[in-house]
Amino acid sequence: MPERLLWPVATDPHEYEPLPTDAKSVAKADLIFYNGLNLEVGNGWFKKMIDSAGRSGDYNKNIFIVSNGVDPIHLKSEGQEKQIDPHAWLDIQNGIRYIRNMEKQMAKKDPGNAKAYHKNADAYVKKLEDLDKEAKEKMAAVPEEQSDLITSEGAFKYFSRAYGLRPEYIWEINTEEQGTPDQMKRIIAIIKEHKMPHLFVETSVNPKSMETLSKETGIKIYSKIFTDSLAKKGNPGDTYYEMIKWNLDHIHEGLSN
Ligand SMILES: [Zn+2]
Repeated sequence: MPERLLWPVATDPHEYEPLPTDAKSVAKADLIFYNGLNLEVGNGWFKKMIDSAGRSGDYNKNIFIVSNGVDPIHLKSEGQEKQIDPHAWLDIQNGIRYIRNMEKQMAKKDPGNAKAYHKNADAYVKKLEDLDKEAKEKMAAVPEEQSDLITSEGAFKYFSRAYGLRPEYIWEINTEEQGTPDQMKRIIAIIKEHKMPHLFVETSVNPKSMETLSKETGIKIYSKIFTDSLAKKGNPGDTYYEMIKWNLDHIHEGLSN
């Protein structure tokens, strides 16, 4: 079964514009997986793409949500409290759920190769369990008063719940590209009350607002981290495991020093 990532790396999955070649791939795909949890809804691109490929009757037959079983966290901005935050994959235990969900559907669809799917999934899950354990140990050593994790988008709620940090952000979800004056004022006030040693900026956003925030507060940006996209192939962070490991290492260093 072919492996294919639909939206190009380093772009925003909240609001993607599918290409004609994507619709062709979707039309003939054996299985289609998507995150769900309110991710692919920004401009309705996923539903539109499924509809235009003539597969709207295929949900739960050949089209599956990989986030089934995740304990959802809601947005907290006023008026958005009923919406779910989609960034569940940043908690490794949820990444493992995604893998198990995909494994199950692949084995069902292609029973002749079921053994191989189970074996590969087990091996990957083992690696991720080890990384999760390491992450919990490392993050527990970050001084409590330094454990505010500041990013542009509020994508680190699941991550922070799993690893004991306090997540804050300029804007809450990536339907925005830059912080508004009110959003900047809000986060500057929060930063001034806390003692985080560094700020972080995501690879899949425009860094301008975070750079302004850094200038205005005098707190340096420690590094880029990954949220909504892998790195380009051949670069650090080009697989799920590597992107999560990069985040853990850099966030741990940036908050400890
Ligand atoms: Zn996002």
